[in-house]
Amino acid sequence: MILSAKAMAISPSPTLTIDAKAKQLVAEGVDVIGFGAGEPDFDTPGHIKEAAIAAIRAGFTKYTPAQGTPELQKAVCHKLLTDNNLSYSPDQVVISNGAKHSLSNVFAAILNPGDEVLIPSPYWVSYPEIVRLNDGVPVSVPTSAANSFKATAAELEQALNKKTKALVLNSPGNPTGQVYSREELQAIAGFAAAHNLFVVSDEIYEPLIYNGQQHVSIASLGENIKDLTIVVNGLSKTYAMTGWRIGYTASRREIAKVMASVQSHATSNPNSIAQKAAVAALLGPQDCVAEMKAAFARRRDHMVAKVRSIPGLSCIEPAGAFYVFMDVSATFGRSCRGQNITGSDDFAALLLEQAQVAVVPGTGFGAPAYVRLSYALAMEQIEKGLERLSRFIGELN
Ligand code: PMP
Ligand code: GLU
Repeated sequence: MILSAKAMAISPSPTLTIDAKAKQLVAEGVDVIGFGAGEPDFDTPGHIKEAAIAAIRAGFTKYTPAQGTPELQKAVCHKLLTDNNLSYSPDQVVISNGAKHSLSNVFAAILNPGDEVLIPSPYWVSYPEIVRLNDGVPVSVPTSAANSFKATAAELEQALNKKTKALVLNSPGNPTGQVYSREELQAIAGFAAAHNLFVVSDEIYEPLIYNGQQHVSIASLGENIKDLTIVVNGLSKTYAMTGWRIGYTASRREIAKVMASVQSHATSNPNSIAQKAAVAALLGPQDCVAEMKAAFARRRDHMVAKVRSIPGLSCIEPAGAFYVFMDVSATFGRSCRGQNITGSDDFAALLLEQAQVAVVPGTGFGAPAYVRLSYALAMEQIEKGLERLSRFIGELN
């Protein structure tokens, strides 16, 4: 039996694979420290859970409109206006099963076969694969550590050709923690507008910025760029709601309409109960977000200092999100108990096997000299994991 060549060419998500492996080892009783998946360790705040329980009790357990409830669409509009100075009407908002699903809808809606999408590299593992699944061609645009891994308009321009249809922006970014300034976004907006490119702006780590910078949505920089931008956001990271699966987009009405049609056949509505919880999250008190952010900031500082103190390892200071992207290339060519480290895949495999520490190799992020460590875990775990990492490096031959 011949299966779909397109689907067979897709590799499984390395972030989710590492996470599943680490969680399985823990279930088997192995004391693994998981710096793998980017998932807040915090519980979903109480008032959000209560809203879900109330929804179940009230029998809010049926289909909703495929693109989400008007109540949640309105709550998203309120959030976009208050936080991002962006005015959308509810019919421009599509609620989906997580931001990953939103991205899938976006590329389904905007791409024709062979259309190219510029993706600054290092990038989050799923962008190229979601583009491919929707018949597009991902084009990696290398960025430099010296510019904190932020793409410039000039770098994007170099990858431009007649087939270029869109570019992906992710600020604050996964895996490097880059945060674009207003001026940098203005330059990119000018480039996108000059070449009539869609901008897919993934803002899922929006509130998690630690260096005093303000999050700016590129869509807020003018009507022209707003028209070209599809804002992607979600509740997984901000409200520790990874399992609830709520993400959303805001875009031009005609794009929203196509995405809603696609979704109406693919999945129907996102979970009705999670939608009620999302309304409570967006409209309720926000001090839970500030508390989580403060904890992430402390963990980031600790992790960056410790990594930099280990000979042979280095990282830039991530301005946002909750990852440290660590350069491990100095270990290539060395060995651990007779096993050679030739790249970040070997590094990550040996670190898990020999030191019971899970990290994600940089290969899937388009950066084979690096591994990614998430700091969305308790400080004691971080300290223990980094001690093991330090010992592992110290014992390399
Ligand atoms: N975008 C980025 C950059 C991410 O890191 C994630 C993490 N899962 C997502 C989108 C998707 O998040 P979710 O599907 O949980 O909303
Ligand atoms: N986005 C998170 C990560 O990069 C969660 C896993 C995933 O969806 O990729 O680890």
